[in-house]
Amino acid sequence: MSKKLVIATRNAGKIVEFRRILDAISEGAIELIGIEQFPELVDVEEIGSTFEENALLKARYTASMTGLPAISDDSGLCIDALGGAPGIYSARWAGKHGNDKENLAKVLDQLKEVGDENRGAHFICVAALVMPDGREKVAEGRFEGTILHRAIGDQGFGYDPIFLPRGMSISSAQLSAEEKDAVSHRGKSLRAIAPHVIEMLGGLR
Ligand code: IMP
Repeated sequence: MSKKLVIATRNAGKIVEFRRILDAISEGAIELIGIEQFPELVDVEEIGSTFEENALLKARYTASMTGLPAISDDSGLCIDALGGAPGIYSARWAGKHGNDKENLAKVLDQLKEVGDENRGAHFICVAALVMPDGREKVAEGRFEGTILHRAIGDQGFGYDPIFLPRGMSISSAQLSAEEKDAVSHRGKSLRAIAPHVIEMLGGLR
């Protein structure tokens, strides 16, 4: 298999979803490579002020360092009652980067006085594809819902246990992998960018 694509993230939950969704779309014709294969790569500081800027920062760095096409995302949870926070700060909302338990505990605490009618929220995911020759594409996906009063379920990652998808009666952490991919922000953004990935990698054959 000669079509290689580097998945530019170290988030274990995201890696699982990237592989699952991209493998399904590409019918296994694209070799998905984890960034752990490139020990010289460091973590990119997310200094952008939008999801798109941060997604591009990660994919540009990875493509330029590896000389291979790279795909990344920047994603987060935007809560209406918190003015759209934690947004781009979702991974480090409670301070330490990537502490899912503390992050969702902080959100629940911040919303403890907020009634059901004001607990609207959505996830956003911006996927970014960067080619070694500098070509770029981005695509956004959204996942609408509300914030629960307590964590329920043990699938997924991050804020999934406190997110009730619109029109559903179970949390995002109770969805099967296929159910989440079908409706999630990451599923939507990766399916939107997939035709560009396939085209820029020269097709599936
Ligand atoms: P970043 O894109 O690496 O800045 O991190 C995004 C953060 O948003 C993650 O660490 C999670 O806390 C949260 N997040 C993004 N997507 C999801 C999801 O699908 N489920 C739950 N939490 C998510």
